[in-house]
Amino acid sequence: MLLCCMYHHVGADKLSNSLPILEKHFQYIKDNFNVVLPGEPLIEDAVNVCLVFDDASYSFYSYAFPLIKRIGIRVVLAVSTKFIVDSANRVAPHVRLHVAVDEMMLGDTFSKSIPFCSWEELLEISNSGNVKIASHSYSHCNLLQSPDVEAELADSKEILQEKLQKEVDAFVYPYGRFNASIVKHVRKQFKYSFAVGAGDNRSWDGIDGVLFRMYCDDLNDPTSMFSKWNLRKYRVQRYRLFVKKWLMDHAPSVQLAS
Ligand SMILES: [Zn+2]
Repeated sequence: MLLCCMYHHVGADKLSNSLPILEKHFQYIKDNFNVVLPGEPLIEDAVNVCLVFDDASYSFYSYAFPLIKRIGIRVVLAVSTKFIVDSANRVAPHVRLHVAVDEMMLGDTFSKSIPFCSWEELLEISNSGNVKIASHSYSHCNLLQSPDVEAELADSKEILQEKLQKEVDAFVYPYGRFNASIVKHVRKQFKYSFAVGAGDNRSWDGIDGVLFRMYCDDLNDPTSMFSKWNLRKYRVQRYRLFVKKWLMDHAPSVQLAS
């Protein structure tokens, strides 16, 4: 069984978990499951879990990253490169942590208040050995509405590889949106790609090349999502993922008038 988990922020106003919940949640995962990064061998008859944080907000660096190192687990961090600045020294940490989630990607907020990790911080994260960096496109656009999907993929991959000096082979679809043509583009440049949906992926091939992730923000309690009943449910829900993938593959691309 391969379960993938999707997280965003820590201690923020939405798409977020509190630090105490996250700590108990991670400790439970570490104690009970096989934590893996994309491509690593899966243990048959065990629950393999891949943890993926989206957007690389400063709350990841500030709260999640120290926790990940202390507990000794490993996660994927998906970065949209447009929003990353070289250094964040000029903005106080409390300012960076208190940008509303809905405002983080608006206008020049990313350079004024620096709510995302800087390249300095990402380099430290990437070199820690606990975090694999993935592409989350260049501008975090809905790829179904992008006039240039190739550039969104290639630019982000190239920038990440140059800045971090590591191969980037995983991609996270912004808003979980894709269709068959977008998946084809993604698979030319990345070995692994992640969308949104609860269920057992079974292997790194997921559902025809796309891995689905469970929503793990706003957890009410740290462990109930892994109850015996829920684990059984995820096995059954694998078949719903095939349906979801088919429906998404056939989603039309809509070019918005500018
Ligand atoms: Zn995102």
